[in-house]
Amino acid sequence: MNNSIKNISFATYTLDDDFRIIEIDNIFEKITGYNKGEIKKSNIYLMDLFPTDNKDFYFDEFNKITKEKLLEHRLKTKDEHIIIVYSLIMTSPNGYKTIKMFTPNNSLFLSNKEKELEEKYKDKIKFLENTAIYDDLTGLLRREPFIKTINSYLEKKVPISFFIIDIDKFKSVNDNYGHTVGDEILIKVADTFKEVIKENGLICRLGGDEFAILIPEVKNMEENKIIAKSILNKVAKIHVEDLKDFRTSVSIGGTLISNYNKVINFNYLYSTADKELYKAKEAGKNRYSISI
Ligand code: GH3
Ligand code: MG
Repeated sequence: MNNSIKNISFATYTLDDDFRIIEIDNIFEKITGYNKGEIKKSNIYLMDLFPTDNKDFYFDEFNKITKEKLLEHRLKTKDEHIIIVYSLIMTSPNGYKTIKMFTPNNSLFLSNKEKELEEKYKDKIKFLENTAIYDDLTGLLRREPFIKTINSYLEKKVPISFFIIDIDKFKSVNDNYGHTVGDEILIKVADTFKEVIKENGLICRLGGDEFAILIPEVKNMEENKIIAKSILNKVAKIHVEDLKDFRTSVSIGGTLISNYNKVINFNYLYSTADKELYKAKEAGKNRYSISI
């Protein structure tokens, strides 16, 4: 995945002292879905760009900026998608705010002024980008960037192997040994995936104790089974100091896409692999089930 900060383009928009959006550019239109016409005609406010549950918090963050600050926040697009953006907020003496906003992995050209900003905030931007892309605990890809990258593979119609992996009886680890031990297991399980997959695929923490792996160019079922078995064997060897009689195991649901006769998207991959995961859990856990 290319997370180079060279690929950043800034959208620029301006707010008046009531936080009404009064001016936008083409990149703002692209990112948010709002166009210049409707910004002129209707009253669209900064608050309208925030997801409902974070509205007040984000508004306070923007409101208290007196000079210049870079913020990471979620943004609700016109068609109600939630995306992560970074906003460099600059306040002018008349109370208006000019905001340079960008999303990671956006490849358009930078103007000289934007190049200056990029240079000035290079380290901070890199940090925020990494925070948006990788899960803090395990260092694996987060869900959104994972799905984005999957889509680029699907567009090229390459054969792929896709797995969903869920830790067995993980709730009881938390309940019996505490969250810290639970976290240690999550990290060690993630490390075994990294060992097995190396640079050959993408590994994601979908959420909680659920993970997904995508490996491109896997062409046959044998290869797929070897990967699944190798994960099961390595997870069985995980050692956690404080854990007494609990043996860590995972269940794996997989699917192999060798042709693109039907529409294949993330939802299709997920639901197909999830059905197999369910079969593996039902059959007693600590095993894999893979469909073609
Ligand atoms: P199953 O074998 O059917 O998968 O049962 P399970 O107990 O693993 O059930 P489930 O997958 O539903 O439980 C997931 C648990 O993961 C519930 C939640 O407490 C725990 N969890 C989610 N995120 C974290 C985390 O970041 N750290 C820790 N320690 N626990 C987490
Ligand atoms: Mg589980």
